Amino acid sequence: MSDVLKTLILGSGPAGYTAAIYSARANMNPVVLAGNQPGGQLTITTDVENYPGFPEGVMGPEMMELFRKQAERFGTRVEFEVGEKVDLSQRPFKVWTNADKVYECESLIVSTGASAIYLGLENELALQGRGVSACATCDGFFFKGKRVFVVGGGDSACEEATFLTKFASEVHMLVRRDEFRASKIMGERALSNDKITVHWHTELLDVLDVSQGKVTALELQNNQTGETWQEPADGLFLAIGHKPNTEIFRGMLDMDDKGYLITKPDRTATNIPGVFACGDAQDSYYRQAITAAGTGCMAAIEAERWLEEH
Ligand code: NDP
Repeated sequence: MSDVLKTLILGSGPAGYTAAIYSARANMNPVVLAGNQPGGQLTITTDVENYPGFPEGVMGPEMMELFRKQAERFGTRVEFEVGEKVDLSQRPFKVWTNADKVYECESLIVSTGASAIYLGLENELALQGRGVSACATCDGFFFKGKRVFVVGGGDSACEEATFLTKFASEVHMLVRRDEFRASKIMGERALSNDKITVHWHTELLDVLDVSQGKVTALELQNNQTGETWQEPADGLFLAIGHKPNTEIFRGMLDMDDKGYLITKPDRTATNIPGVFACGDAQDSYYRQAITAAGTGCMAAIEAERWLEEH
């Protein structure tokens, strides 16, 4: 049986590492389970231009490396494992991982973040990794000189489309309304890029061609006229948002209908005393690295005070 930790942190994005920095400095000897995507979503983004302290911007993976080093400098132990099952019915809480280990902890900080959403088309899933991707930073390199499509009209879609122009010969954005959801600056950057064509009111109906084992064309529809047509394509990138990674807490922690963890007003405390939630797993509204870091700090401070009281 393992030693009981004062605090265990699930997830290694800005929320998790900030919680680790604060709790390590409070002598809580935190362990971070890095999860499925060590460093979190910023490791699959390119330039981060809106995180204070980096006037020239910083690459997402580099920033998360800095977060990790800062957490480790104060004694945080980072384990590259994924928490797969939890028992929050009694203390110490228990977390089972994919490395067949069980961690026990007095307080638990949930910073499991969110993951990319797919449209759920049968062929989209079948062709994942064969032309279909939800991460331009990871896979853009493979589309040198190719014709690629991006679904979505938010900041992610604009950022991915702009990034893909470094490799692809043509980038097409499929936007279901007649305007972007993206911030003005990101939208304008995409619109002013000669390599990007925006198709408004356009939805993806199907991805072809599974029989060839790769993306060769897309079936599209104009949702105003109902017209459908096929476009030759080499790649498809999904950028339609994210869902919180909170499935393992279902039935234990209160969550809203989309799976975001519910915390006490202006706090990170969940419905279970000693369990705190922060970052994108809990925040459906701001979803920024800086706000995730902020709530990570809050969770560590609340966990520390809670441990002192108990
Ligand atoms: P958003 O939820 O902001 O945008 C999702 C986009 O996908 C919208 O255009 C939406 O359309 C569209 N969409 C959703 N579902 C479907 C569907 N089924 N079919 C077609 N289109 C669909 O998600 P993002 O991931 O873009 O951004 C999330 C957060 O992260 C935001 O707060 C954003 O500002 C931030 N962010 C910031 C960045 C930066 O500053 N560098 C970079 C990336 C993200 P509709 O508008 O019609 O709903």
